[in-house]
Amino acid sequence: MSDELFLRDAYLEEFDARVVNLAGREVILNRTAFYPGGGGQPADKGTLGVGPVQANVVDVRREGGDIVHVLDNAIPDKVQKLNGELDWERRYAHMRYHTALHTLSGVIWNAFGTKVTGGQMREDRARMDFSFPKEWTADVVAEIERLTNDALAEERPVRVYELPREEALKNPDLIRTQVNLVPERVKTVRIVEIEGIDAQADGGTHVANTSEVGELEITGHKSKGSQNKRVEFVLR
Ligand SMILES: [Zn+2]
Repeated sequence: MSDELFLRDAYLEEFDARVVNLAGREVILNRTAFYPGGGGQPADKGTLGVGPVQANVVDVRREGGDIVHVLDNAIPDKVQKLNGELDWERRYAHMRYHTALHTLSGVIWNAFGTKVTGGQMREDRARMDFSFPKEWTADVVAEIERLTNDALAEERPVRVYELPREEALKNPDLIRTQVNLVPERVKTVRIVEIEGIDAQADGGTHVANTSEVGELEITGHKSKGSQNKRVEFVLR
């Protein structure tokens, strides 16, 4: 089992770790700050190395309880310890976009009572899909943008904590974000809460305060059928 340092400290850019398994270009470490991707947030990139041995991490994935780092070139078998460094600019952008997506999701729920069905973030843009059975006009989109920017500007703290599964299932805010889909074997649920706006079961990395997100600009919107709508946005 790799210790997933990013779950406790999203701001960790660099770390030392022990090599647990090395197979060609794939490395498993005893602990890592590299996010393996999931929940719409891409896997991290960066470097692993020690002394003259250096490799770029081109992909990261979860495999059972382990996190596998995929390198651009194989490192020598004798290496036992490695230093990891994230491409921090890219990761921090994902954190800002991830918190922006949750804020948007909370705002849309609070204002219109409709649920998010999916989202994807990139370094320089993001999109979100939600079920919105009402009329979908430029005015509605402008209203969503305004409400989201108001919420972001309120400098709301973002908290990460764990709740026993039973308690999470009783919380109506969490149920709307489908915490009930968390497998039964999971006894504690990791919650990401944007104070007063949104709380969800989530495994991703977020900024600590909405003030770090900046300002959101909706750059596109479309209707994908009578129920499903999409917004695309960038952060300024
Ligand atoms: Zn999320």
